[in-house]
Amino acid sequence: MNEETVFQELSEILADPPETREKCSQCKRPVPVCWCPGLPKHPINPASRIIILQHPAEVKRCLRTAPMLALGLGSEKCIIYRGKKFPLPKHEGLIEILNDKNTILLYPSPNAVTLDELTPVGDNGQKAYNLILLDGTWPQAKAIYHSSPALWNLQACKLVGIPTSEYVIRTQPTEGCLSTLETGAFALSILEGEPELKDKMLGPLHFLCRFQLENGAVTHQSKEFVIKQKTYPKLIGRRLARQLRILPEESA
Ligand SMILES: [Zn+2]
Repeated sequence: MNEETVFQELSEILADPPETREKCSQCKRPVPVCWCPGLPKHPINPASRIIILQHPAEVKRCLRTAPMLALGLGSEKCIIYRGKKFPLPKHEGLIEILNDKNTILLYPSPNAVTLDELTPVGDNGQKAYNLILLDGTWPQAKAIYHSSPALWNLQACKLVGIPTSEYVIRTQPTEGCLSTLETGAFALSILEGEPELKDKMLGPLHFLCRFQLENGAVTHQSKEFVIKQKTYPKLIGRRLARQLRILPEESA
């Protein structure tokens, strides 16, 4: 085994990445597990906007529901910023949003009020809200909050009395909380005073859930795909590490 062989092997791995499976151009998921048919026929345009502050690691998770939220709403109605703290200079327009008195943060801080305690849009001249959601696992969301002092002065609010997502329990056993899509859909329905909004918005999740329940084989395939995708970088790391360890011994 020499250096050339190592690189030969490495190039062979890279030449055949697991992403060769065809992907949907809209949701970027493998075609068999695309949820786009569940999207509302026309993007929803509520008065309020959803602002997603997304932890960078969230992008790599297998079931991300923020894209379901973004694709179901009009392009102006869902803005995603990425980072571990906010705002950073690259987050164009975020400072203005944070300074807006109609901006609220969904976060269970001690002074958080329940969403239905807030005035719905249109009542008593209440303007549209900017609803900020922290997108990531619970520890990631907590870390974002604690490293972003600009969020501390916002009106914090929380959802109560919402059943825990069956879908999330089934697919993300470690979390036991609502997905970003469900959180956004429930919250927006309450703020806009339009209960039917959430059903339209939850379409992609219902579609995916129904599809997976009806088709166990596909669920299996999709899990396998995810496992491959997740372990793929590690595979290279291990192989390369092992071979680099072998090299000095063999050349000795
Ligand atoms: Zn799709």
